[in-house]
Amino acid sequence: MGGPELAAWLREFARLVAANKDLLTALDAAIGDADHGTNLDRGMQAVVKVLDAEEFDTPAAVLKRTGMTLVSTVGGASGPLYGTAFLRMSTALGEEQSVDAPAFAKALRAALDGVVARGKAAPGDKTMVDALQPAVDALDAQLAAGQFLAGALQEAVRAAEQGRAATAPLVARKGRASYLGERSAGHEDPGAASVTLLLAAAATALPG
Ligand code: ADP
Ligand code: MG
Ligand code: MG
Repeated sequence: MGGPELAAWLREFARLVAANKDLLTALDAAIGDADHGTNLDRGMQAVVKVLDAEEFDTPAAVLKRTGMTLVSTVGGASGPLYGTAFLRMSTALGEEQSVDAPAFAKALRAALDGVVARGKAAPGDKTMVDALQPAVDALDAQLAAGQFLAGALQEAVRAAEQGRAATAPLVARKGRASYLGERSAGHEDPGAASVTLLLAAAATALPG
């Protein structure tokens, strides 16, 4: 796949974020400041405008502009974290014109490493890492076992969904939700929910 396929993935993510904006904001209302859906929707609508308006020489360039746009439009905790994720993916892809399944998996692993480096969240801290990490692990395991990208991404979505659901009973140790202490338990983490949409968009939009 190339730049156009990655752009299709980002457009599908934007569509899912818009469709789930109120849900993401409701999750953030329970344990944060009720803006995750509007934050990410604003950012992804800006990304769609950039994709419409600009041309890109490489797949990496698509992801670099996406990361830059998210950093400058989303704000809050999630803007720099999503921005870092896409910028790290871009760097991982290098100058290649074509992205195969292992290269995509490597880039997604780089995104996870970037989020962890930037936000310092460990698994179980009730953040987006709790959905992203199992998804990246599932993607690697599936590809190593000889699965095609489409099937591997479906497993990655299932892993993200499980990771998201598993954040509900957790007490938050990072981000705004951590200010609530024990009262943060009982709700899914909004960032884990949006990351699950990112994986779902990949499973839908990327070629098998
Ligand atoms: P803010 O909390 O600034 O309002 P958002 O509501 O847009 O930002 O995003 C909140 C989400 O960001 C949380 O649900 C969590 O998944 C994620 N998050 C916050 N802090 C961290 C962190 N240090 N590491 C990883 N993810 C984090
Ligand atoms: Mg918030
Ligand atoms: Mg906020």
